[in-house]
Amino acid sequence: MKKQAPAERIKNFKEVAFGMSQEEALKEASRCLVCKDARCSAKCPVEIDIPRFINAIKNKEFDDAIKTIKEKNNLPGVCGRVCPQEDRCEGACILNKKGNPINIGALERFAADWGLKNASRVTRHASRTKGTKVAVIGSGPAGLTCAGDIAKLGYIVTVFEALHAEGGVLVYGIPEFRLPKNIVKKEVEYLESLGVVFKGNFIVGKTITLKELFEQGYKAVFIGTGAGLPNFMNISGENLNRVYSSNELLTRVNLMKAYLFPEYDTPINIGKKIAVVGGGNTAMDSARVCLRLGAEKVYIVYRRSEKEMPARKEEIENTKEEGIEFMTLALPKKILGDGKGFVKGVECIKMELGEPDSSGRRRPIPVPCSEFILDADTVIMAVGQSPNPVFLRATPELKTGKWDKIEIDNETQSTNIQGVYAGGDATSGDDTVIAAMGSGKRAARAIDNYLKNRL
Ligand code: FAD
Ligand code: SF4
Repeated sequence: MKKQAPAERIKNFKEVAFGMSQEEALKEASRCLVCKDARCSAKCPVEIDIPRFINAIKNKEFDDAIKTIKEKNNLPGVCGRVCPQEDRCEGACILNKKGNPINIGALERFAADWGLKNASRVTRHASRTKGTKVAVIGSGPAGLTCAGDIAKLGYIVTVFEALHAEGGVLVYGIPEFRLPKNIVKKEVEYLESLGVVFKGNFIVGKTITLKELFEQGYKAVFIGTGAGLPNFMNISGENLNRVYSSNELLTRVNLMKAYLFPEYDTPINIGKKIAVVGGGNTAMDSARVCLRLGAEKVYIVYRRSEKEMPARKEEIENTKEEGIEFMTLALPKKILGDGKGFVKGVECIKMELGEPDSSGRRRPIPVPCSEFILDADTVIMAVGQSPNPVFLRATPELKTGKWDKIEIDNETQSTNIQGVYAGGDATSGDDTVIAAMGSGKRAARAIDNYLKNRL
């Protein structure tokens, strides 16, 4: 897929990847073998009939292509951009044997973008036949998927969202240059066309309780409150000015439009030399955002090697292309102040890799007496997130486990409370968009079964 040149794109927040032209999409689709028992589809958590939609592109039947995708996936424009296809459908494609799998993500994006431009031809309005009310808490990919599937089944769905914009991490976390907010907005509008009602600025657990939702006539509830509580390292100096969690940085840039200051009067104060701690998508996004905000030097500080980084390969490549320096096998020990309350540097220690730990990745071990000082005036902590606590604190009867993750039955997503289901990062910890969507889909199916048996 063609991209903006690195030297150009670091000066703007426009989308980096351009997407396939029709000619490119037809050429790529023509390589697909349209396998009968397609391995790609078997790996898709939302069960898209991949050979069927690729075949439709091959035949220039683009409305059939997007309709096929939308039978299963309510957010194709999002998935075509941020889904880790290399670990899912593309990773399973039979053409991997020849070293050149089909670029399924780019084809999905092509079909989705075609659908957005030709919306009237593909929008399907659901008929509300069942008249039963279902509540969804949180409008991230888990909540949006569950809401869309439940609406398609004919239920009356209301999504309660704490923030003023719908999409969860898709709007407050992933930057504009990877996922334009207009795409998320359009996909939310598609859900509205299915009859889903969104109530923003509505914190369940504060504005209303779970018990009150049932009292208001909701017969089932899906919890998709995500993992938006940033983790810190608990090292000295984390309270200095210009130490941010990646969540704060990204929310202020994406949702509060800090990058559009002074058009929006909500700027963010970062320095010129930035240390971003972490190796996931969040770290890459934070580093690239800082560069675009005008930083002169940005480091990714990661305690393992590049091979162990959890970020998408494509995003690691993009980050490197943009000139961000990877300082791997290094762990911050303390953040140093300048005596006036601001960051002056980071004391780090070098690491080496030992035996694999429970995550399967090799355990990082400090190298004795290898401390060094990294010159930095801003530190961004991108070391993971935990489940959002507000709803959980207000709902002590809901069973949670390790790291406050909501406990569920893995097949049905049901919690310990009757009629209450949960999914996405609130149950798994920080994971992926498509995993969250898969759980929303399973929950929708289970909620339908539950309600059918009760009504
Ligand atoms: P979320 O997206 O977190 O949404 C939860 C929603 O619930 C939020 O809108 C929140 O405001 C709302 N909420 C919380 N509490 C309440 C309450 N009490 N009442 C009402 N609403 C509430 N994954 C990928 O697959 N590819 C990527 O490239 C990728 N990049 C990422 C980049 C960043 C910066 C981050 C942070 C994550 C990234 N991820 C990526 C991970 C992915 O975005 C998440 O796994 C996914 O969004 C989880 O979806 P969710 O619906 O469970 O939760
Ligand atoms: Fe096409 Fe590959 Fe899927 Fe076969 S496995 S249908 S070749 S994308």
